Amino acid sequence: AQSGAPLRARAEIDLAALRANVRTLRALAPGAALMAVVKSDAYGHGAVPCARAAVEAGARWLGTATPEEALALRAAGIDDVRIMCWLWTPGGPWREAVQADLDVSVSGMWALREVVDAARAVGKTARVQLKGDTGLGRNGCQPGADWAELVGEALRAEAEGVVRITGLWSHFACADEPGHPSIAAQLSTFREMLAYAERAGVRPEVRHIANSPATLTLPEAHFDLVRTGVAVYGISPSPEIGSSADLGLRPVMTLSASVALVKRVPGGHGVSYGHHYVTPGETTLGLIPVGYADGVPRHASGTGPVLVGGKWRTVAGRVAMDQFVVDLGGDEPAVGSEAVLFGPGDRGEPTAEDWAQAAGTIAYEIVTRIGSRVPRVYV
Ligand code: PLP
Repeated sequence: AQSGAPLRARAEIDLAALRANVRTLRALAPGAALMAVVKSDAYGHGAVPCARAAVEAGARWLGTATPEEALALRAAGIDDVRIMCWLWTPGGPWREAVQADLDVSVSGMWALREVVDAARAVGKTARVQLKGDTGLGRNGCQPGADWAELVGEALRAEAEGVVRITGLWSHFACADEPGHPSIAAQLSTFREMLAYAERAGVRPEVRHIANSPATLTLPEAHFDLVRTGVAVYGISPSPEIGSSADLGLRPVMTLSASVALVKRVPGGHGVSYGHHYVTPGETTLGLIPVGYADGVPRHASGTGPVLVGGKWRTVAGRVAMDQFVVDLGGDEPAVGSEAVLFGPGDRGEPTAEDWAQAAGTIAYEIVTRIGSRVPRVYV
């Protein structure tokens, strides 16, 4: 799509801001390489353009959840950078992953067996990163006997030449709540799991545990690599850590729409499904042609902020599938004028963080859910 084209709605993606964020994060973790996490279509920003921009700004790794996401990056010609993927299910595309030089995460014996079989079939050494569960209670191998068994089997496969153990890693549960006691406990368990594996003979290229919040607040968690997602897109991991402006990050996505209708209505007029808003007096309503199918959260009915005609307006009544309404009071902006739902905030518009607060969720969810019906416009 062309920048400036009159569109129902658009998500402008500022790749210069993304590059600036990558540089800012690299400067915060100077001893570590940076992985740009580009899963879920780069948190809704578009995986391939964002991956390329991150690499231009010095990201040496890309990270995805699923192998399909990682393979799509290789298929787009991104082959000058390491790509790691961590969410596997039995029967996954292990052979394709080995063939494409992906670093694959292994959390348990079933996955190790599948990757070893794939490497033998393809005739190529697989890059394997062993994941420990240091306390998140999600994916990852339990410390103790399970870890010892996984490390032992991986080392046997490495001795045979079918795998290379490129990394040892884990993931935090509460890094977005600085000072949470689980952070120190996870770090200590991580160090024990690393020490065990290294004593057993593992020589990883990278040891890593830090996501964006740990990268921003916890230098002792940086190790050899930081895996930054949300901060790359200029969004603060949590209000407790600060706003994106406080952190020197530039929000990358601006979501805007063209006002589709402006009309005068009398007082007492019910607005949108359920009539949860009733005009308090004669007023002007503006129709904003985006809805929950576009990712505008229905939970922000009655609360979501939008900049129209230089002022913040609030979603009046319910967000519908394709549209919502704002009460413009006495103002009459032109049909076709711009309604900015969120952006960096420097033109006075709300941010994704404001929408998260209005919808009772996290800013990660706001940007990630912007639907495919909204064109991404790269600037
Ligand atoms: N590492 C892993 C394993 C993840 O699943 C994620 C995303 O949730 C990240 C890193 C990036 O997290 P954040 O967006 O908080 O930087």
